[in-house]
Amino acid sequence: MNDQIQPQPGIMDIALYEGGASKVAGRTDAVKLSSNENPFGPSDKAKEAFARCAHSMHRYPSTDHAGLRGAIGDVYKLDADKIIIGVGSDEIIHMLCQAYVGAGSEVVFTEHGFLMYRISTMAAGGTPVEVKERDRTTDVDAILAACNENTKLVFIANPNNPTGTMIAPAELERLARGLPPQAILVIDAAYSEYVEGYDGGADIATRLENVVMTRTFSKIYGLGGLRVGWGYGPKAIIDVLNRVRGPFNMSTAQLETAEAAVRDQDWLERCRNDNTRLRAWLAEALAEKGVPSDTSTANFILARFTSTAEAEACDEYLKSEGIIVRRVAGYNLPHCLRITVGDEPSCRRVAHLIGQFK
Ligand code: PMP
Repeated sequence: MNDQIQPQPGIMDIALYEGGASKVAGRTDAVKLSSNENPFGPSDKAKEAFARCAHSMHRYPSTDHAGLRGAIGDVYKLDADKIIIGVGSDEIIHMLCQAYVGAGSEVVFTEHGFLMYRISTMAAGGTPVEVKERDRTTDVDAILAACNENTKLVFIANPNNPTGTMIAPAELERLARGLPPQAILVIDAAYSEYVEGYDGGADIATRLENVVMTRTFSKIYGLGGLRVGWGYGPKAIIDVLNRVRGPFNMSTAQLETAEAAVRDQDWLERCRNDNTRLRAWLAEALAEKGVPSDTSTANFILARFTSTAEAEACDEYLKSEGIIVRRVAGYNLPHCLRITVGDEPSCRRVAHLIGQFK
């Protein structure tokens, strides 16, 4: 066991909020707005595919994931040979660290960056390097200034979690082109499908040799509990990752359900449109009650309170009313609460309760 691995505050948050939302609130009717899940769940076609897998559980799954890679390649217009499938994008992040990070390596990400970057870096024996954001938005110049000959990976979520903000693809390309030669830029595009017309960094990962894009089925595809993610990038990097992953890292149910999900783009479009409409409504409703947020491009908003104490008190109040949101103190944003855009009744309820609290 690597002795650098210390209990992280974020891991306890995950156990508490991701798995046991209803237990946290002490009730079974709790509304969970803490994990940026799709409130509408997956498409019916995905559910049907999952049910069909009951008939093949005695068989080992595919090792090359050709069916799912082919489907993703068709839908996203990408070369399937440059795609890798993992147990959530968490596993792709982990594989990248296992493959490229070791003692003496540095991994750069932003101060409010997704906590798996730190966990996977430390698990691989590397040193996390945190860079300040500017107004809760990724600052490319600050990131470039933090890189040196030890930098192996740079993780940027775009859209960013938990801020919801994003930077232009041209800025990401400027970052990739400015990195030292041994460093790889990982564009974490977990929320990119919520931004109509945005390719998540696919074009940059196609053209540049030092860029990988990661994606997930946990957000807009509504399959967070199934655990499927994927990465796309230069063949040389994907080949290295394939040597790091286990041959049977994915179950048949994961592969076939995700394949049906990606082929149902009508469902995705409906979910995106609903999210866009409800997110605007929620942000405006909270602003009217004196709780501002930055313009979000994802399926959550980061609500800013006047102090840490106020954010904590509001969190407790919401919890007592059966609404679970996410404290983001571990992300260096103690005066904020991250609220997933739920279905319409949940949005109305959380807005109403925050109004009562204020
Ligand atoms: N990246 C970001 C920015 C995320 O917010 C998340 C999930 N919260 C992930 C990656 C990991 O997603 P998953 O492992 O479910 O694919």
